[in-house]
Amino acid sequence: MIYLDHNATTPLDARVLDAMLPYFRDRFGNAASRQHAVGRRAAEAVESARQQLADLLQADPRELTFTSGATEANNLAIKGFAAYHAAAVGATGRHIITSSIEHPSVLAACERLAEEGWELTTIDPTPQGLITPEALAAAIRPDTVLVSIMLANHETGCLNDIAALAKLCKDRDIRFHTDATQAVGKISVHVDTLDVEMLSLSAHKFYGPQGVGALYTRRKRPRVRLQPLFEGGGHERGLRSGTLNLPGIVGLGEAARVAAKLMPNESPRLAQLRDRLENQLLKALPHAQPNGHLERRLPHTTNLSVGYVDAERLIAAMPELAVSSASACTTAAMQQSRVLKRMNVSEARARASLRFGLGRGNTSDEIDAAIAIVIEAVRNYNPSETTCESRL
Ligand code: PMP
Repeated sequence: MIYLDHNATTPLDARVLDAMLPYFRDRFGNAASRQHAVGRRAAEAVESARQQLADLLQADPRELTFTSGATEANNLAIKGFAAYHAAAVGATGRHIITSSIEHPSVLAACERLAEEGWELTTIDPTPQGLITPEALAAAIRPDTVLVSIMLANHETGCLNDIAALAKLCKDRDIRFHTDATQAVGKISVHVDTLDVEMLSLSAHKFYGPQGVGALYTRRKRPRVRLQPLFEGGGHERGLRSGTLNLPGIVGLGEAARVAAKLMPNESPRLAQLRDRLENQLLKALPHAQPNGHLERRLPHTTNLSVGYVDAERLIAAMPELAVSSASACTTAAMQQSRVLKRMNVSEARARASLRFGLGRGNTSDEIDAAIAIVIEAVRNYNPSETTCESRL
């Protein structure tokens, strides 16, 4: 199997697994049990992981809250901010802004707030998949209090200019959150360079374990305050109650350390392999077209419409390749990718789009094999066979 779906999840790095294993065995402990050495040792391991993550983001470790992943971090940022703001300020200033290409954990959290009476503006991307400062400036109102725009898009890999977007907000005293889940560990992500007040991430996107992530929340200039999502023992400075996931947090810290170390070589290597894959497919397949901005994007991702095919059927014809299609046949209908649709990509092109996400373990031989497999599958594709619609 050639795994080219690293935007969905990444395999655990061997160093991460080695770091985690003792914490499933004799190094167990409840980090809140400070009375005895077993608990204190667990707490020390958590703090050392927090420092490793802080080093990667150039943050203060006290600004990091461990969560169950980016879905929770996004919900905590958006709903936690809104709840605190509503309690502190009352009914005024209840306008939030997000974009239509966000992950559902951001979009649905904002939509939930809209159901509860908040006003919501959802910005569309350019046809190249970017949220521009001009579009954000046009959406900002005097009563805007929160903006949430992602750093890297999960389907296209496109990178928004977060520093410029966040500056627009800072100048107007509006808080800015970014979902950096697809970018952390792949490209350099520093909270002060971006100058954001909140940032979400997830360990399993950068060779750490699934089910653990973090939210960065700025402590100074300005101090951001959140209301927790749930009640409990007040762990994580009251922001996230619940016994800490000790092995998971240790794994997240180690994954951050390894990512920082490998990034200078890994990013250019993957960009080169990604470009080879993309160029060879564009050369061999006359109807192939890339989706999204070609420069402002993650080094390891390409989203390509490969021709007049149904991507799901094409993927089924390539069992030795793990890639993803943005559009899917659901039980009800052909579900078109929301991201590509908002970029004005035609339905036919969106239906034929494949997302390739390269990763740490991929070799150049694997990429050459993948190129050959895709070319052959597209050439052998029989359009007269069952299509998505006729199957329903
Ligand atoms: N945001 C983005 C951009 C993502 O790609 C994902 C994972 N698909 C998430 C948030 C959710 O992350 P998690 O799996 O940790 O909940």
